[in-house]
Amino acid sequence: MERLKEILRGAGVFEHGFVSTAEMDFLQAVRDMCEVNTCGKYDKLWSCPPGVGTLEQCRERCRSFAQMLVFSGKYELEDAFDYEGMMAGMRQFKQVVRGVEAGLRPYVNGYLMLSNEGCDLCEACTYPDAPCRHPARAHGTLEGYGIFVSELASAAGMRYNNGPNTVTYFAGMLFHSFLFET
Ligand code: SF4
Repeated sequence: MERLKEILRGAGVFEHGFVSTAEMDFLQAVRDMCEVNTCGKYDKLWSCPPGVGTLEQCRERCRSFAQMLVFSGKYELEDAFDYEGMMAGMRQFKQVVRGVEAGLRPYVNGYLMLSNEGCDLCEACTYPDAPCRHPARAHGTLEGYGIFVSELASAAGMRYNNGPNTVTYFAGMLFHSFLFET
């Protein structure tokens, strides 16, 4: 437990929790929200619908692991309309996710990382003309997998909303078990 907390703290994680994949829902309604394309990533990356695969394929991929480590990053905003602050927080959280991945990779036998806002590994994604350059390191999105993030946070015992003038981002690492005691 201490080793895990140390890695998460070191990466800048705010809160974390665990959810069994058997208890997770994968909803077409969430995928439908991706299609509205508010983020501009729909049909642009292998990590997002439709490139990430069907809802059924995403569900099967997740359920091939036993559980998800859910973790969050909380960032301060000047006010509720601070778009630049939200984008800065989003970029910081991407680094947090990479930090968690680097810290935990030696302690898991296989994993799948789902993050916020699509894969950011390459400057330009190969989608749809060529296969993904780094399939083992590409991060799919929670929403792209049909996961309703506020419900996931609740199932993991975490706060989805952390008060006025803050933004909270979430990610999830699917794995079987850690090679140290949690
Ligand atoms: S690793 Fe590169 S090619 Fe693969 S999904 Fe991410 S950005 Fe696209």
